[in-house]
Amino acid sequence: MDHFNAANEIQDLQYFGEFGGVNPSISDSSTYTFLSAKTMFDTFEGNADGCYLYSRHSSPMNLYLSQALAKMENTEAANVTASGMGAITSVLLQLCKSGDHLISSRTIYGGTYAFLKNFLPSFNIQTSFVDICNFESIKKAITPQTRVIYCESVSNPLLEVADLRRLSEICKQYNLKLIVDNTFAPLSISPTLLGADIVIHSLTKFINGSSDTVGGVYCGSQEFINDTKNVNTGACMLLGPTMDSFRSASILKNMRTLHIRMKQHSYNAMYLAERFEKDGLKVTYPGLKSHKSHELMKSMIHEEYGFGGLLTLDVGTVEKANELMELMQHENLGYLAVSLGFYKTLFSCSGSSTSSEIPEEERTAIGISDGLIRFSIGLDHDIERTYRKMKECMKKTGVLESENISIF
Ligand code: PLP
Repeated sequence: MDHFNAANEIQDLQYFGEFGGVNPSISDSSTYTFLSAKTMFDTFEGNADGCYLYSRHSSPMNLYLSQALAKMENTEAANVTASGMGAITSVLLQLCKSGDHLISSRTIYGGTYAFLKNFLPSFNIQTSFVDICNFESIKKAITPQTRVIYCESVSNPLLEVADLRRLSEICKQYNLKLIVDNTFAPLSISPTLLGADIVIHSLTKFINGSSDTVGGVYCGSQEFINDTKNVNTGACMLLGPTMDSFRSASILKNMRTLHIRMKQHSYNAMYLAERFEKDGLKVTYPGLKSHKSHELMKSMIHEEYGFGGLLTLDVGTVEKANELMELMQHENLGYLAVSLGFYKTLFSCSGSSTSSEIPEEERTAIGISDGLIRFSIGLDHDIERTYRKMKECMKKTGVLESENISIF
């Protein structure tokens, strides 16, 4: 597994723009001319390589970004979309038709959960939500109609780690596709090396890294990508979540520093998690030995990128969580905002924000308590300084016992 190095794959891509530029030229067109009517017909039929038809189908810049992401995930091909949800919905609607069934981890991003739980049933597609660590219950949930097992490599917001090797064995045994949302662990985990068939990202997060756009991608075999773009039957072609060329150009440029950013996010998150744990706080971070999937994650990651930039802190109540987050924002330690992968730390209370689509009883059952704060740790240059300031906020709000409150 370790001979594959995604950062080298991205670094080795070479571009010559239309005028010799070091970046590919942005093609600012929604439609493309043909010198002969026959070539236009062949392009519609999918038989004219190198020709563009219409930018909802494909465009030069989107293909460049897709190619870089396919390199990163070690797949034959990829297709970028206007959002992570655009990727998730296209993939699932391509693979599951009326009467089909899928199995999903019960701890996933709230929007994905809502799509599976509330939206797909109206197309007669049912989902069983399972504990993704319980292989027996997964096997029990499989029916002749099951097509897919869906999970997040590291789950939002509970940071539960999916054993992709075991899941892929089950998928092979029952002829299912393993779809992995790898948004929380780009570069760190390479799901296809562990047996995944399709890898999805919300590019909105670490990969773009500047919180200025939404975007998504799915990576898989050339055949699958072609299927999703088929003009007659392709879910992505027909649903139309197309990324704009200007956005794909900026995401491609940001992606080139992803390896440096991921190391810093992980370093900073590990630093804080270790200290918070020593302080006696209820912290969850897969890099900590106390995390139930620490060893599993260790066996799945490219270690140089660490255990990721997310950690959670359970401060008991939503009131306490809000008080702490407001104070931390006031002290310029980050922003009270959803999303992740920004240069500044972002914090939000998952139960009342990005997981609010999951009904309260289910949130409680899976462990998303009201006082759970999800932190996306930033690229802070001096994380020790950040830690000291965060600790003061915790003392001031009573999250930590305050023996000696110092001045900021
Ligand atoms: N997958 C995960 C793990 C997410 O956290 C999110 C968004 O928060 C998404 C998918 C959806 O991505 P987007 O907001 O880009 O549509």
